[in-house]
Amino acid sequence: TVSTTVRTRFAPSPTGFIHLGNIRSALYPWAFARANQGAFILRIEDTDVERSSQEAVDVIIEGMKWLGLDHDEGPFFQMQRMDRYKAVLQDLVAQGHVYPCYMSTQELDALRERQMANKEKPRYDGTWRPEAGKQLPPVPEGVKPVLRFKNPIGGSVVWEDKVKGRIEISNDELDDLVIARPDGTPTYNFCVVVDDLDMAITHVIRGDDHVNNTPRQINIFKALGKEPPVYAHLPTVLNEQGEKMSKRHGAKAVTQYRDEGYLADAIVNYLARLGWSHGDDEIFSRQQLVEWFNLDHLGKSAGQFDEAKLRWVAQQH
Ligand code: GLU
Repeated sequence: TVSTTVRTRFAPSPTGFIHLGNIRSALYPWAFARANQGAFILRIEDTDVERSSQEAVDVIIEGMKWLGLDHDEGPFFQMQRMDRYKAVLQDLVAQGHVYPCYMSTQELDALRERQMANKEKPRYDGTWRPEAGKQLPPVPEGVKPVLRFKNPIGGSVVWEDKVKGRIEISNDELDDLVIARPDGTPTYNFCVVVDDLDMAITHVIRGDDHVNNTPRQINIFKALGKEPPVYAHLPTVLNEQGEKMSKRHGAKAVTQYRDEGYLADAIVNYLARLGWSHGDDEIFSRQQLVEWFNLDHLGKSAGQFDEAKLRWVAQQH
């Protein structure tokens, strides 16, 4: 039986600083889950060990708690799920959806240079991809291979994005993605698919910096014999100067607004309106947001953060 319960997630990487633009990516899936009596899941994508920190995890959890973005399940940490990813990887190996590739970094660099010199798009050339009747090169000794995903040849990946509309990407644009490193650790896109599957996510609502990952993730879903979720890719939040929000460009940490005495409901109201609309309503309560929220009125253009406007919204609460 197909479950119709809405399940959404917020999947931040705890690699730095969490500003209001980041937390908006938590607010929308939270509001959508609450609007549909669904479940909201928190997943911490901490596989970038060098850049991840406990401090960032704390700010995420504290910030969400302050704003009342309560999660029903989690937090799950990707670093604690490695055994699970490896088990699913074994299934893909067994089913012939992945293959070992022994091309060295030097060979890949040389290939890339040749392609660039020929004005071709740099991409893996399929040397180690097994095909019926094809003779593979001799396996070099002492080299640990990466595992590559056998991306379909021909055809295209299509999805109806809730923000961007129909997107179609030709499979010819997609390489055979590396899904495990020589030491056996799975790579990012693969972990996301396993997580979204295991957590039974129905709607992926995330920043549009992930649009390029989506066709790759959809192909992995298909290889696993599963239906991909519905996607809604949110345009970035820009700062007052029209740049991507960042600490370097003066954005403040979420928790700083709390320390400055802002009401959580005012921040939630302001962030909801920054990329979603309900007619001309500017001021609404959390209750109204949960009643009204849908994916049909997500904005298609980048929201622009405006501290003066935030102060005005805060005065109305
Ligand atoms: N961890 C990713 C990020 O922080 C989000 C991945 C996703 O939502 O699929 O940008």
